[in-house]
Amino acid sequence: MRTVELADGTSVPMLGQGTWMMGETGARHGEEVAALRRGIELGMTLIDTAEIYGDGASEELVGEAIEGLRDDVFLVSKVAPSHASRRGTVAACEASLARLGTDRLDLYLLHWRGRFPLGETVAAMEDLIDAGKILRWGVSNFDVSDMEELMEVDGGRACAVNQILLNLDHRGPEFDLLPWLDERIVAPMAYSPIGQGGALLRRPELREVAERHDKTPAQIALAYTLRWPGVLSIPKAGTLAHVEENAAAADIRLDAEDWALLDEAFPPPERKMPLAMI
Ligand code: NAP
Repeated sequence: MRTVELADGTSVPMLGQGTWMMGETGARHGEEVAALRRGIELGMTLIDTAEIYGDGASEELVGEAIEGLRDDVFLVSKVAPSHASRRGTVAACEASLARLGTDRLDLYLLHWRGRFPLGETVAAMEDLIDAGKILRWGVSNFDVSDMEELMEVDGGRACAVNQILLNLDHRGPEFDLLPWLDERIVAPMAYSPIGQGGALLRRPELREVAERHDKTPAQIALAYTLRWPGVLSIPKAGTLAHVEENAAAADIRLDAEDWALLDEAFPPPERKMPLAMI
């Protein structure tokens, strides 16, 4: 598995695993745990979750999946904006750790901006690092102006990751946000990289490129997010077949003709587009 080096020198796999909607229905529980464990075996050892996913149910399921494997995993969770005060962030993190059955997170993110001043949340992140409860922190859904504001806050420059909506249907960050992050060594993490398994995968142009390489549309969608050496990507897969297919996307190399076809169907941005979020 190719890796991305974070600003502190830590290497993480480019392809990780999302968990939104996991743990929500008992019927899929066993299959979801098995899919996450298979993904870990295949090198997708970065697992992304959040306190709001299934109201904690996703974190509990992740905890089950990583039991006995904690040291092999780069574990990411997120604080909800409504909890992101100095005290609230610490309490939310402690509750996440309990649900995940671990003593530390590798990365803790502010899920999106809310009513609490950024300085309060950053101070809480520092408290959590000092207590050994998180190893580093980052943000999510931050556009360039939000990142610039964060850089002005005491300690804000320690932000390691910005998790953003990035896929062929949402190429806006290519215009300004990706270069901004690259320059400051904040790793972008692409969420919904396969368009939530929806209309994107039915686009004929994506199918055409997939057929040229004997791959699937989902794998080509992933190849788009893996195009940049510094970008992480976290597809969510609740079945063994999907997780195996996604892991195999790490090796796809598209050629100039493929990119031309994709650029025509999914044009790159020619001007600033506000960062979209789901
Ligand atoms: P996604 O990963 O683009 O798509 C997931 C959907 O695609 C699921 O329905 C999945 O079905 C299906 N799928 C997976 N692999 C497939 C394959 N090879 N072929 C066909 N379909 C496939 O969407 P996402 O879950 O929204 O985003 C990924 C992760 O990013 C989330 O799980 C979450 O961890 C994170 N996220 C963060 C934010 C944020 O605000 N920070 C927002 C959204 C998402 P099965 O489950 O049946 O396999």
